[in-house]
Amino acid sequence: MKVTVLGSGSTGNAVLISSDTTNVLVDAGLSAREILRRLSEVGVASDKLDAILITHEHGDHAGGLRVLLSQVGCPVFMSGATEDAYYSNRKIDAKGNGEGIKRRDALKGRTADIVSDQEFRIGDIDFEPFSLPHDAADNFGFVAKHHGTKIATAMDLGHFTPLIKEKLLGCDVIVVESNHSRDMLRTCSVYSWELKQRIAAKTGHLSNEDLADWLTDGFDGSARHIVLTHLSQRANDPHLARITAESALKMRSPLFRAETTITISAPKSPTPWIYL
Ligand SMILES: [Zn+2]
Ligand SMILES: [Zn+2]
Repeated sequence: MKVTVLGSGSTGNAVLISSDTTNVLVDAGLSAREILRRLSEVGVASDKLDAILITHEHGDHAGGLRVLLSQVGCPVFMSGATEDAYYSNRKIDAKGNGEGIKRRDALKGRTADIVSDQEFRIGDIDFEPFSLPHDAADNFGFVAKHHGTKIATAMDLGHFTPLIKEKLLGCDVIVVESNHSRDMLRTCSVYSWELKQRIAAKTGHLSNEDLADWLTDGFDGSARHIVLTHLSQRANDPHLARITAESALKMRSPLFRAETTITISAPKSPTPWIYL
């Protein structure tokens, strides 16, 4: 199995998980054009996409989906609550057509339901969905399993729950949110007080410091690679996110040292493939 983060940040998220024969896109938050361009950049033809998984309905995770579906023929896996929330978009275009109706038409007959804790299979990859605490209808992380190897994705979570910590045990690669520095969020002059409250909430976004606490005390050390995602462009800095995570790994008890490489994802370009 292998994984690349095609792009990540508040402007859009998409992750590609592949085996030799199966390609699964987790989230379509970049524009359809960008997703297709980046798929070709990492060497995957768009007609080789086997499924799209949507974690939740927010624009930075599902905003490119409708147009992408006119270019690719694969099914979309999402929960019923996420699907309803996705259709409830009230945008109206210049011709008076509602975005919600266009979305419903685009997804007609192409969705498969995700239910918490019920595994499903796409090609030769098994997916285990698990709930993430976030201010969306029904947000999910996934553990992708193939021939005994595991890749986990967990983006848009306000905090680590016992369930998340358990799901990340034994994973070989973990793609996880490192959204903001608490200090940079507090002092950021561009965000309103309300937005800061939303981001910092238990159902908001994970801070560098929250991630660091988990890396020191909750992480089992099994993952050789951890990819930091969803970095805020205003309340974070890629170097700071990396240093915070790497320092946290060094703080681990000497008995539980982890040989883990930290990779930082970017909004505008894919990470190199990480191979298992
Ligand atoms: Zn979100
Ligand atoms: Zn997001």
